[in-house]
Amino acid sequence: MYIIMLGAQGTGKGTVAGLISKETGFPQISTGDIFRQNIKDKTELGVEADKYISQGNLVPDEITVPMVKNRLSEDDAIGGAILDGFPRTIEQAQKLDEILAKEGKKVDLVINLTTPKDEIIDRMLTRRVCPNCKATFNTKLHPPKVEGICDECGESLVQRADDSNPEAIRRRLEIYEEKTSPLVDYYKKQGVLKTEEISISINRMGTEVAKDMVEFIKSR
Ligand code: AMP
Repeated sequence: MYIIMLGAQGTGKGTVAGLISKETGFPQISTGDIFRQNIKDKTELGVEADKYISQGNLVPDEITVPMVKNRLSEDDAIGGAILDGFPRTIEQAQKLDEILAKEGKKVDLVINLTTPKDEIIDRMLTRRVCPNCKATFNTKLHPPKVEGICDECGESLVQRADDSNPEAIRRRLEIYEEKTSPLVDYYKKQGVLKTEEISISINRMGTEVAKDMVEFIKSR
C-alpha cells in the first residue's frame, strides 16, 4: 500500500507517518530527512539541496524526483511505503503516478493533515528532531522523556536550521499554499483523500490520528 502524508509544515506529518510505519511495517520515506542526511554527510546532492532548503525553497525536481524513484525501488519499499514530504507539487504528483504505474501500482491513500496557522508556527519553533534516528519531538506537546535526548536512540536532539529561521518558515508556508495545497483537490478527484485535523483546540493530537489511520489501513 502506498500512502502519502499531505499537510503544511508543522501539522505532524512526520510524527503520524512514524507511528503508522511502526504499526504497519511500511517504511517512512521522508524527502526532508534524506536531504538533511545528505547535507550532514556533505554529499554532492546535500551541498546542492542545501542552497534551496536553507532559504525555505523547494529543491528542483531534477534532484528530488530521481532520489524518490531510487528510494522506492529499494527492497523494503516494494510492497508499500509512506511518503512524507513528497509529492509537494502537481508535477511531482504526476511523476509519482507514472513511477508507480510502471510497476502496476498506485497511490492508495492520502492522509491530509490540517492545523490552524497560529498553532503551526508555534509547533515549528518548538519542534526538535533526532539527527540520528529522525524521531520528532516537540518541547511543549510531545516532549522527550529526558529533556534534549531522543527517547528512541539516546542521541541529543537538535532544532532544524530552517525551523529557527523565521524568513524560511514564512517562505515554506507560502510555498505550501501556492504549490502543495492544490494536491488536496488532485487526490480528492482520485478518491483517495482522507482529511484529519490535528489541533489542541479540538484536543486531537497526532497519536490519536495515527491510531485511527492504522485501524483504517488494516481494515482494507
Ligand atoms: P520537510 O522536512 O518535509 O519539511 O522538508 C524540508 C525541506 O526539504 C523543504 O523545505 C524543501 O526545501 C526540501 N524538500 C523536501 N521535500 C521536497 C520535495 N518533495 N520537493 C522539493 N523540495 C523538498
